[in-house]
Amino acid sequence: MSNTLTIALSKGRIFKETLPLLAHAGIVPVDDPETSRKLILDTNQADVKLVIIRASDVPTYVQYGAADLGVAGKDVLMEHGGEGLYEPVDLNIARCKLMVAGPVGGGAEPERMRIATKYVHTTRRYYAERGRQVEIIKLYGSMELAPLVGLADRIVDVVDTGNTLKANGLEPLEHIADISSRLVVNKASMKMKHERVKEFIDRIAEAVGRSD
Ligand code: AMP
Repeated sequence: MSNTLTIALSKGRIFKETLPLLAHAGIVPVDDPETSRKLILDTNQADVKLVIIRASDVPTYVQYGAADLGVAGKDVLMEHGGEGLYEPVDLNIARCKLMVAGPVGGGAEPERMRIATKYVHTTRRYYAERGRQVEIIKLYGSMELAPLVGLADRIVDVVDTGNTLKANGLEPLEHIADISSRLVVNKASMKMKHERVKEFIDRIAEAVGRSD
């Protein structure tokens, strides 16, 4: 196993909010993923690389050891299942809620509801635990549209301010989980690169404590 530390991150909010935490661990990327087309970013440390991937792919890269560490939302981790991963630090960033939402004043639930979501496994588990029979429709984005065009009765999505729901005549109905981003670690890396990985985790945990 090489001695390089590879950290998987997604662009946008998670990248921006993770930067100060990385800086506290002495890691500063050389390129900006918003302007660079590179998928592997060098950092000021020759043996630390960042891989820039889709948020929903982060658990998979870390699970298979293609990255030693990563930052992923709890929503993405719940959907992935967390196999092969440790989840040692709640980074307290990109906070939101996973909710069931539906049309404002939508009235009684139909007998067999149709739920549009990209969180198929999480949604199935949520309703199964409550003994409710639902039909799940997998979408990849713009879930808020589905009830407006009669594709679904409800959606399951992450909600922050609720403005997007409101703008589309929807309201939050049921709270499924509080979401924030987590540091995840490949289980083999934790063993094989223990000292480096442990030190990195400690620095990140310290940075999270300071940002409160
Ligand atoms: P809102 O502030 O509720 O209008 O959210 C705006 C959009 O961003 C919605 O479509 C949400 O699905 C999405 N969103 C909000 N917070 C997060 C988050 N922490 N991670 C990923 N997506 C989010």
